[in-house]
Amino acid sequence: MVEIRNVHKRFGDLEVLKGIDLTVNRGKIVSIIGPSGSGKSTLLRSVNQLEVIDQGEILLDGVQVNRPDMNGLAFERHINHIRQNMGMVFQHFNLFPHLSTIDNVTLGPRKLKGMDKKMAREFGMELLDRVGLAEKAEVFPNHLSGGQKQRVAIARALAMQPKVMLFDEATSALDPELVEEVNRVMRGLAEEHMTMLIVTHEMTFARDVSDWAMFMDGGVVVEECAPEKLFSNPDQERTCNFLRKHL
Ligand code: ATP
Ligand code: MG
Repeated sequence: MVEIRNVHKRFGDLEVLKGIDLTVNRGKIVSIIGPSGSGKSTLLRSVNQLEVIDQGEILLDGVQVNRPDMNGLAFERHINHIRQNMGMVFQHFNLFPHLSTIDNVTLGPRKLKGMDKKMAREFGMELLDRVGLAEKAEVFPNHLSGGQKQRVAIARALAMQPKVMLFDEATSALDPELVEEVNRVMRGLAEEHMTMLIVTHEMTFARDVSDWAMFMDGGVVVEECAPEKLFSNPDQERTCNFLRKHL
């Protein structure tokens, strides 16, 4: 479970997050939508401490993620431990170009979890099978399509057996015909009750897959509710205006 409490973040004079509250319960899927620059990525990056927040709290299963009381090596250790429990998938795939597909997937479990080579490979092959890429195990990233790369990125994140998966516009850099194969993998995770926080501009996907939806604008939560309501009958004028442009 992820708890985001009164999170503030500024870059210089620009306050990008102005007191965000959000809870993602275990096994639930929350989608975040909102215009460009509204702070969606900053929020997601704050959850796994790629950004250090200025105020507020972020908790993962009751453990505080942000630790203003810690610095140096102690903070680094803490954050490495936390990140093992959060899988993040970005718009751009960030695969290691010099490693084969299977090695991309097994690197984390081997290096960070000390899993032996044989076990890591078996587990990695299971994950590749799950994302439909078992036959690409020995292929290098530059021989994969965008959709395939993104599915490897998902398998790599899952290899750490995270408590939560964070997706930041995982499909928005893909050609339209490749979006569905990645969405299918994400739907599969939803069916398995993976806890997920998804930033997306795909309204139909967000409506279908999520348990809860949040609309952000200008660093604040404008509205959050069940997706059936948010996408068809929102309360706020700003939400209506945004959806009119994007549905
Ligand atoms: P998009 O839909 O375009 O991805 P977003 O909602 O994800 O937008 P963010 O990337 O979170 O928006 O950015 C929110 C604001 O913070 C923007 O005004 C952006 O320019 C600013 N910003 C983000 N990162 C930094 C940074 N490292 N330094 C300074 N400003 C930043
Ligand atoms: Mg963004």
